[in-house]
This record gives sequence, structure tokens and C-alpha cells, in this order.
Amino acid sequence: MNELLRSVWRPMTQPGLPPEDLFMAESALGVHVTDESGRRYLDMTAGLAYVNAGHARPEIIEAIARQCSRLVTFPSHGSNAHRLEFDLARRLLGLLSRERMARVMYSSGGTDAVENALKIARQYWKLRGKPEKTRFVSFKFSHHGLGLGSMSVSGFPGAPRLYGPVLDGVRHIDPPYAYGRSDGADGDALALAVATELERTLQWMDPGTVAAFVAEPVQCAFGAIIPPAKLWPVIRGLCDAYDVLLIADEVVTGFGRTGEWFGCRLWDVTPDLMCFAKGINSGYVPFGATVVSERVADAWSEARFEATILHGQTYAGHPLGCAATMANLDLLEREDLAGNARRTGEHLLQGLRRLADHPLVGEVRGVGLLCALELTSDRRARTPLPYGERAASAIRRSLHEQGVLVRWFPSGILLTPPLTLAATDADRCVEALRIALDDGLTAMGGS
Ligand code: PMP
Repeated sequence: MNELLRSVWRPMTQPGLPPEDLFMAESALGVHVTDESGRRYLDMTAGLAYVNAGHARPEIIEAIARQCSRLVTFPSHGSNAHRLEFDLARRLLGLLSRERMARVMYSSGGTDAVENALKIARQYWKLRGKPEKTRFVSFKFSHHGLGLGSMSVSGFPGAPRLYGPVLDGVRHIDPPYAYGRSDGADGDALALAVATELERTLQWMDPGTVAAFVAEPVQCAFGAIIPPAKLWPVIRGLCDAYDVLLIADEVVTGFGRTGEWFGCRLWDVTPDLMCFAKGINSGYVPFGATVVSERVADAWSEARFEATILHGQTYAGHPLGCAATMANLDLLEREDLAGNARRTGEHLLQGLRRLADHPLVGEVRGVGLLCALELTSDRRARTPLPYGERAASAIRRSLHEQGVLVRWFPSGILLTPPLTLAATDADRCVEALRIALDDGLTAMGGS
């Protein structure tokens, strides 16, 4: 196995550390994944929060197969096109009519979707005669992708040290992470604190140099950071007041994850640009899209060199990706998967709340099927329980033995199952967590 591990550079690992136990998936169906030894696991991850419609849905597989028999691949580039890209764009814009979105730019995944959004934002301001508006503001602990631009706006601790200098002039502000704050601010007070920092940052940078504020409606990778209800409407207001575009990175929150079709709808906010990938087609084919509002698209109304669209990744708008997306959207609509995420998510959260008094649990939070459990070795001090610690290892082992797959973030467990999850699956997950937490406590020497 060690030899095998060396052959692939695995993301998010440090070479030289003892190899982690690899979970080798062999097959998957619905909300279950089977490993190479034939053991079946309840998938509370949906991969990296993307298999929204569940694994191996025949409807999506057949749509891809039908498309394969017609046109496997053809570029959507310059004067080359295929019908499906236009049909899909019409459908996506129909779904986004409330947000008055006007144009779709396809890409190959979430990173590309964000890279394109950053470029569109800069070009927009150049077209509007404000070429000095080039900088970005975003949240710490955000994940917007791993390209140099998208990584620069991401709030990964350590990224500049590894890959710097990153994109010039990006500023990161504190996210609405009530649990991690020392001032105890929550609800309206938290919204005010975050909005105040954003406003001061924009003033300090000089809004005349800022192209956009970029954020996920709910930050996923660092543990379901759910903003208070008033924050996004205030952010929208600040972006308008300071003439800064609002880019919503909906790569995780788009297509039902939060219980709404789009995360911004939780707060009834209309962004200027939206980035999609993952749940757009449940990851059956790598695919992404950046969607642009009428206001932004209008800047491209004149034919001139400055309006050239210099994007166009080779696989953007791939016919198989479009076909998978169409079939995925059929399923989301027909099975009301956003509604199921809301209902089953609420049920799951109720179950998780019953674990909130456990000595190793710092906080439980969630919206739709995007839930997190903060783990702690000291509830009062909110000391995070590190992933490699004995208790955390015992929790990991216990969940594995009980056949439940979860994802870890630096201070806890993230639950982002397929949106087809049933209430009984949610109950099974909560029961497995209860046992695993007790196993963790035992490993720590507690009772
Ligand atoms: N944005 C968000 C919110 C993400 O969570 C991710 C990936 N986890 C990305 C962008 C990048 O997407 P991809 O991995 O498809 O490049």
C-alpha cells in the first residue's frame, strides 16, 4: 500500500508523515459507498459535498450514455458550439430568473468558475471606465478554489507561505463564525461586527480600488459557518454603497444543499455574479459555470477589443457535462431535493442537538444538509480537538467500524450527505456519532 500511495501526490497531505488509512471506494449507490473489501458505508459526505442527487442515478447515467452516442465531445469555443450548451443556459437562467441573471459562462469545475468570476469582475470595471478597481475582499477560512487567483481570495491559513506572493491586494476579513470568536458576538451583534469590519476594510483600501467582495453564502470547508440572518442583506447594501460587485460562490450551496435552490435565497439577496460546480450535476462529469447578472452583462454590449472574452477552457461546456446537468436538474425538480435537504436537514440537526451536551462536543450547527459538529477537549475554553489526537482517532476509527463516512475539518466533523438522505439514514448517523463520541471519551480517559 505504501508503494501505491507514493505513486499519486495526494491533496491535503504532507509527504513524510505516516500514510493515512486510505478509504478505497469500489462502488456506490444512492447514499451508500462500498469499499474494496465489500463493506458498505453510509455516505455522509456526498464526496466533497457534491453528489447531491445521490450515487449512480440511472437517469443521469443514461443521459450521459445517450449523449455519448450522439456527440461525446466538442468545444464550446469561439465559433464552435453545440445545441445543448444553449438549452442548458436557458434552463439555468430560468432557474435564476428571481436573481435576474443574464449570461452563463461554462467552465470545468469550481476553481475555474471562481477564476472566471474574478476576471469578469475586473474586466467589468475596465469596461465601465474604472480600471483601477482590481482588488478583492473575502472571508478568512473561505474556500474558493486552488488556482492562484481563487486561492488568493480563499482564506486558507498558510497559503501565502506555501505559494506566495498570491494575488496582490486581497484583504480577508473575519467570517461570521460565532463559535470561534472571543467576544461572544452572535446574531445581530455578529452581523454588525462583520459588516463593520467589511465597511472599514473597504474604506481603508479605498473602494475605488476594489472590484468585488467574494463569499460563500455558507462557508463549507472550515465547518458550515452560517451567517446571521441580517448579514448578507447588509453586505449587499455595502457593496451597492461602495460600488463593489458581490460575487456569491455557490459551488457548495448551489442546487439545494442548504434547503434552498441557491444559498443566497436563504437571505433573499441578489448577487452580481454566481459561481457553480459540484451539485450542478452532482459531479457525474466535471463541470462548472459562472452566471452573470444583467447589470454586469450590459457592460459587454459594445463590440470592442476591451470586451473580448478571453476565457474558454478546453472542456468548458462539455456536452457530457451539459447532459449530466440537464438530467440532474430533472431529478432536483422532480424529487424536490432542496425541500428534502430542508426537511431531512432539520431532522438531522435535531438529532445532532441531542449530542450537544457531550463533553467532546463544542457546538452543533447546520442549515439544510450542511451540518457541522465542533469537537473540543475543553468545552469551556473551546479548545479544538485536533484531528490527529487520540480521542479524534478513536472517533474516526469508531465511525469507520460502524460504517459511516464523514468529512473532517480542522476542528470537527462536517456532514454533507446526498440530498436524497432519508430521516432513517440521519438517525443512523446520529446514533453512530453518539457511540463514536463515547469511544473518543474513553480513549481520552474520560467517562
Ligand atoms: N468554491 C467552493 C465553495 C468550494 O468548496 C470549492 C471546492 N471544495 C471550490 C470553490 C473549488 O471547486 P473545485 O474543487 O471544483 O475546483
